[in-house]
Order: sequence, then C-alpha cells, then structure tokens
Amino acid sequence: MAYDKDNIFARILRGEIPCDKVHEDEHTLAFRDINPQTPVHVLVIPKGAYTGMDDFAANASKAEIVAFVRAIGLVARQMGVVEDGYRFLANNGADANQEVPHLHVHIFGGKGLGRMIKPADK
Ligand code: AMP
Repeated sequence: MAYDKDNIFARILRGEIPCDKVHEDEHTLAFRDINPQTPVHVLVIPKGAYTGMDDFAANASKAEIVAFVRAIGLVARQMGVVEDGYRFLANNGADANQEVPHLHVHIFGGKGLGRMIKPADK
C-alpha cells in the first residue's frame, strides 16, 4: 500500500488539524481518540510516513522503533492505566478494518475490557 500523505494523521502531524495531544517526542505523537471507546482511549503514532506495522518494522530506523515502543509504555503510565491494566491494539489492513492508513496503536483502559476480540462474519 502506498502511503497517502493526505490521511488524517498526516494532516495532524503537519498541524493542519488539531489534536488533543498527550505526548510528543522527536519520533512519536500521542493524542486522544476523537471517538473514544473506553474512558482512556489514546492513539500513539510514529511521525514517519508508515502505513502499518509491516512497513514500520521493515523500514523504520532503530531510533524510531525504540521511541514508538517507549511512547506506548510511557503514555499508558501517564494515562494512569498501568495498575489496573490496559489493552494496546493496532488494526492493520482491510480485514482489521484499519480506517486511517498511518500506523497507530490504540491504548484502551479505564474500565474492564472483556476478553480479546470477536471475529466478524465475512
Ligand atoms: P483504525 O480503525 O484503527 O484505523 O482507527 C482510527 C481511529 O482514528 C478511530 O478510532 C477514530 O476515532 C480515530 N480518529 C479519526 N480521526 C481522528 C482525529 N481527527 N483525531 C483523533 N482521532 C481520530
């Protein structure tokens, strides 16, 4: 999949659209999901132009990968969900219903999250 430079997260990164930022460093940005599914629902994204995890794993620098993983843990702690638990999840591609084609990890928390996921009927 070619990277769409006008996807909504690319536009947030360029400052064209506002976001409710909770963390930023050289390589990552984290902000609250606009349509939260749980009391805590934050998205962590790399600043680089990566469509999904396969692209990121193959092409990101070590510094970007380290920053992304660290940001996920740091944001979870910052949002206060480490003690009670949280879920981090990335939808990748059509079968996973990825809506925004820029790699992002959702962090869900703040209530019981149930067990894993239910597959959809196809
Ligand atoms: P996914 O289905 O994994 O691609 O999820 C995309 C997520 O981005 C959804 O949970 C949306 O609610 C969220 N989203 C879309 N636009 C924005 C925005 N402008 N600011 C924050 N979150 C957004």
